[in-house]
Amino acid sequence: MMTPKLTSKQPTLIMIALILVTLLLNACATSPTGRRQILLFPESQMAQMGIAAYQQTKDNTPISKDSHSNSYINCITNAITPKVDADTEWEVTVFDSEQVNAFALPGGKIGVYTGLLEVATNQDQLAAVIGHEIAHVTARHGNARVSASTLTQAGLVAAQVLAGGVSQEKQQLLGLLGLGAQVGILLPYGRGQESESDILGLVYMASAGFDPRESVQLWKNMAAASSGKAPPELLSTHPSNATRIADLNKAMPDAMIIYNKARSQGEKPNCKK
Ligand SMILES: [Zn+2]
Repeated sequence: MMTPKLTSKQPTLIMIALILVTLLLNACATSPTGRRQILLFPESQMAQMGIAAYQQTKDNTPISKDSHSNSYINCITNAITPKVDADTEWEVTVFDSEQVNAFALPGGKIGVYTGLLEVATNQDQLAAVIGHEIAHVTARHGNARVSASTLTQAGLVAAQVLAGGVSQEKQQLLGLLGLGAQVGILLPYGRGQESESDILGLVYMASAGFDPRESVQLWKNMAAASSGKAPPELLSTHPSNATRIADLNKAMPDAMIIYNKARSQGEKPNCKK
């Protein structure tokens, strides 16, 4: 029986495999609604990335100086964020842009584009968007996206090593971990992440006393707007589908219980444009 000859590539391959296995063993986590997801990055690092991306957006996009839009959006955000978590200090910026868009990033950073006000036509619909975006952060979907992208890239490096085409594998792997992070944060959300944010978002908005039923109208408005010349940017990172409204309606009885309780406890936001 022949003993396979140990090639110079094998120690590196074993090292890459060990790194991947170690990452994965420490990385499997359960999301708020019980989904399994792989999270490779510490939240502190995700917050740093979120804050850097936020600053970049602020540098490149005009910030609205309209006091009405600012106080309106702050009023809604300030009603929701205390219901989310006490540890994060949330910041909201209103961008002066026709884009129908909003986002929330790790590190407690929220962006709302004034174009969204044309589609989210009342405080409850806007609360639905903001609650949904915040849920992407609390459910750590950014981390999951970045992690998935990183693993794909690490797998590519391992494949290259196997094929014998790479000499500086370790450096490249570590470099790609960073690249994976950059690419991942821009990827669209998956369907499971969207559903989870819809459900969590309903809980957040309802806890703050916003009418969760308006979330259904919001996505109807969004669909109607997408038949126009410029489809809403929000839909490009938040692919919608026919089951979204059905799933929201299915979750509505529970959300209404939360809403009615919040209202009876005096949570009656009255944010005006
Ligand atoms: Zn989403």
